[in-house]
Amino acid sequence: MTLRTRFAPSPTGFLHIGGARTALFCHLHTRRHGGTFILRIEDTDTERSTQEAVDVILEGLAWMGLSPDEGPFFQSDHTQRYLEVVDRMLAEGHAYVCTCSKERLDTVREEQRVRGDKPRYDGLCRELNLSRGAVPHVIRFKTPRDGEASWEDMIQGTIRFANDELDDLILVRSDGSPTYNLAVAVDDHDMGITLVIRGEDHISNTPRQMHLFRAMGWPIPEYAHMPLLHGSDGAKLSKRHGAVSVLQFREEGFLPDAINNYLVRLGWSHGEQEIFTMAELRRLFDVRELGRSAAIFDRAKLSWINGHHIRAATPEQLVPELAFQLGRLGIDPLPSHADLARILPEFQPRAATLVEMAQKCRFLFIDSVLPYEEKAARKHLTPAARTPLATLADHLASLGEWTVPAIDGVFQATLSAHGLTMGQLAQPLRVVLTGTAASPGIVETLWMLGPARCQARIGAGLAVLDGMG
Ligand code: GLU
Repeated sequence: MTLRTRFAPSPTGFLHIGGARTALFCHLHTRRHGGTFILRIEDTDTERSTQEAVDVILEGLAWMGLSPDEGPFFQSDHTQRYLEVVDRMLAEGHAYVCTCSKERLDTVREEQRVRGDKPRYDGLCRELNLSRGAVPHVIRFKTPRDGEASWEDMIQGTIRFANDELDDLILVRSDGSPTYNLAVAVDDHDMGITLVIRGEDHISNTPRQMHLFRAMGWPIPEYAHMPLLHGSDGAKLSKRHGAVSVLQFREEGFLPDAINNYLVRLGWSHGEQEIFTMAELRRLFDVRELGRSAAIFDRAKLSWINGHHIRAATPEQLVPELAFQLGRLGIDPLPSHADLARILPEFQPRAATLVEMAQKCRFLFIDSVLPYEEKAARKHLTPAARTPLATLADHLASLGEWTVPAIDGVFQATLSAHGLTMGQLAQPLRVVLTGTAASPGIVETLWMLGPARCQARIGAGLAVLDGMG
């Protein structure tokens, strides 16, 4: 039996980092064991489901490198099929028509509350064999009264639910629409899902879904219920803990593989290793090795891992993200991928996020001369810098080839001609080239900027110095 897993988000908002973690675990476990990873959009709640949320889920999964092998499939396309299954359950005595009014159910529930019983349907219509007539009705599942539903959860171990704890689940609402647990069970069967990996908030649905499988005579998949993601205060991760949407992490300059690495380490380990590539994870990860305790989301650790991945990343991994961030800074047109790949090694050791990297290399991609940071200019742009800067500009203008060694040659020549230390020339030069007193190596900075921009910026710097009289 080949492994088939699914990620089944409801398209009612953004792709939450907790949802992304579920998708990641499905993807990795499926890759490790050789199987098929399916995406199913659970859009039966038509009031709250939106196309925009579907797009965000697809975009978020693609960005994280977790695109499905099959799908997306949409539950809203399967309504007829769900209703057919209910017809069969009715015909075979696994389901029944219930005409109890809301008022009656409220009264029953109130009586149960007063008695201290768990509120649930009292089963009045269960044996009445009512037919679907004009009277408003729902269709309920005839949950077995005795015995229990139990399974060996791949993460949680043995889980048992006594059947008399379970309600007679509504399968079809009075408006004729199928309900959530029905849709999930039918799809999991029809899609041939062999392993359901989902959050432990769904544990209480599992016995209900298992009963539906049994009634239909379908083989029951295996289940793995993952611990949820909590914020540092112990509460379920939510917006008030900061970014929780995957695409917001992108905006904040995180690399997808850093997020994947971080998420996987919440609850899973492989010796002492902290940094993993996706290729390693696809080879090593197994959902059975996940711990059972809730995972605490820790931004500081994520940033630390992000820095590692930025330093280790290939141009293919970094360039699209850097271009995205430069776009957000208003750089238009965006530099070519080749230009970005060329400058990356200068910035990789210096940035914890892509936002930071874009800010640091922005000076390379704007035509106009930057306004100088006041403090940097006051400190370094002094009249003494004028003549050496002019000499350097002359040397650069006659340089045959624009390479790091050639530029270094004229830079060193300028230093010795004027008897200067490195910093005495490099700092004023940095200010006129970048507007700041911090950049990668000065020769590399000249090289990255290219001859035209260097000349224009040194020229403008000289004019400022002239103005100082
Ligand atoms: N649609 C459910 C959710 O977004 C997941 C259901 C499942 O995985 O069975 O929480």
